Amino acid sequence: MTATAAHGPQRTAAAFRELFGAAPEGVWAAPGRINLIGEHTDYNDGFVMPLALPHTTLAAAARRADGVLRLHSGDVPGDPVELPVAALDPADRLGWAGYPAGVVWALREAGLPVAGADLHIDSTVPTGAGLSSSAALEVATATALNELYGLGLDARRVARLCQRAENRFVGVPCGIMDQTASACCTAGHALFLDTRALSPRGPEGGDGGRQVPFDPAARGLRLLVVDTRVRHELADGAYAQRRAACEAGARALGVRALRDVPFVQLKSALARLAGEPVVARRVRHVVTENRRVEEAVARLAAGAVEEIGPILTAGHASCRDDFEVSCPELDLVVETALDAGALGARMTGAGFGGSAIVLVPEGRADAAAEAVREAFAAAGHHRPRIFPALPSAGARRVA
Ligand code: ADP
Ligand code: MG
Repeated sequence: MTATAAHGPQRTAAAFRELFGAAPEGVWAAPGRINLIGEHTDYNDGFVMPLALPHTTLAAAARRADGVLRLHSGDVPGDPVELPVAALDPADRLGWAGYPAGVVWALREAGLPVAGADLHIDSTVPTGAGLSSSAALEVATATALNELYGLGLDARRVARLCQRAENRFVGVPCGIMDQTASACCTAGHALFLDTRALSPRGPEGGDGGRQVPFDPAARGLRLLVVDTRVRHELADGAYAQRRAACEAGARALGVRALRDVPFVQLKSALARLAGEPVVARRVRHVVTENRRVEEAVARLAAGAVEEIGPILTAGHASCRDDFEVSCPELDLVVETALDAGALGARMTGAGFGGSAIVLVPEGRADAAAEAVREAFAAAGHHRPRIFPALPSAGARRVA
């Protein structure tokens, strides 16, 4: 992550010129995100409600006619990575360059005419913090190529192709939320998404999303992000296990996905899963979490931001106890913030580290942040990174 002071389209363009010896054709930005509510629901065809952060990944880009892709990131010392686009293969192990190269691969695989390109990346999205720096990198790349090559893709399609790049080329089985948030969010809003309607199996043309006004400041509130700066090793394996448990639950209940278990039928569903207590708890999380997203949408639509506080906290308890994807650092953020007067708090993102969010009255925000820092120091954890989550714009051209 580059320091914010050194971040901006002009600097990114200047770095591009220095690297590649000519000006870029433009600079595109794609944001990181937090998820307000709706955790581990996206791969269950369920509901999520992310918002874009002011932190962005910038891509300065220019076309090349020779079929060569040259990739450089300000966060990765050394020369650009150079790859012939026609030979890109998901079996390649390209490290960070796999994300933008995977986007080129996915675009070409979809039959879109992308030849070579030079790309230089600069980012203020913390990496590996559960704030979707990977999606920001993919969406910045795809948005640049979409415009440079006149591909005419809408933001939803950009998101799907980026998800495909991450799933198939990088090999990370992520859902559709992160890329959609980065591509489609708008300033001053959270984005309610019905992920079933977004999937390739969903109704074509159905937009599956709704911009929900979200302005904590107007209600005297602040939403804080607390990046714990830890990521526990078991995260990847646990994610795959959770997905498998959800699929097992859907099979046992005879539904296509857990999204199809209505909240009012939860009790009977759990009774049917009595012999599989772990699967039952995973199911209970997903079903109640979908319900919490719908409740949060209703409260926000009524302008009552403060009323989502208890929903966030209930979501954390469900992630911690039923889905078991929290960790001591995330639990400590939530407990400490609530003790310091927060209205609600929860882990955000896949869990096992990464970030939490805290909804707190403006007048208590600094004290709550300080209380979290002190609690982390006392527990011997890293010093957390804490900043306000201002609902920001999705991917766009910036120069
Ligand atoms: P998250 O998406 O939560 O930040 P991931 O593990 O999904 O975490 O993605 C982080 C990875 O994405 C990094 O390890 C790196 O490979 C790549 N990445 C993200 N942003 C950049 C960047 N600005 N420069 C180079 N690589 C990046
Ligand atoms: Mg990611």
